[in-house]
Amino acid sequence: MDRQDLISAARDLLIVVDNPKSLCPQEIEKIRIRFIKELEAEKERQLSRASKVCVNCGFYMLSANGCDTKYIAMDGSYYLRILVEEKGLTKEGRCHDCGAFLGKIHHMGCDMERCPICKKGQFITCDCIIGKEVSTVNVNEER
Ligand SMILES: [Zn+2]
Ligand SMILES: [Zn+2]
Ligand SMILES: [Zn+2]
Repeated sequence: MDRQDLISAARDLLIVVDNPKSLCPQEIEKIRIRFIKELEAEKERQLSRASKVCVNCGFYMLSANGCDTKYIAMDGSYYLRILVEEKGLTKEGRCHDCGAFLGKIHHMGCDMERCPICKKGQFITCDCIIGKEVSTVNVNEER
């Protein structure tokens, strides 16, 4: 159930309100129930996302600007993580999966983060990383 379903249910309901004779009471009741169900589903979806804590930085995903570790460490090398890009942003400018803002670091486990090694695959599923020991680190660059 996504936003589009909710909008279409709301539209159906408005047609009923504008033109009450267009539908029989049973049909109106059906639309009403569908609308309430979809509203509840949407609310739950938003709540579950807002209350998700990142295992990496420990922040609530929607209260932080982004994650706080810039590098992925693997096999003794460091790779700069790929930041939130224009693709898949919400209208608030956040990554639709993890909530990090454009230009910030994705939270751990986000399905939009690209692999920092090949820069092509999806980080969480990329062949470069699967089966390897991976950790996130901050490297002091000011030295
Ligand atoms: Zn994080
Ligand atoms: Zn993300
Ligand atoms: Zn890769």
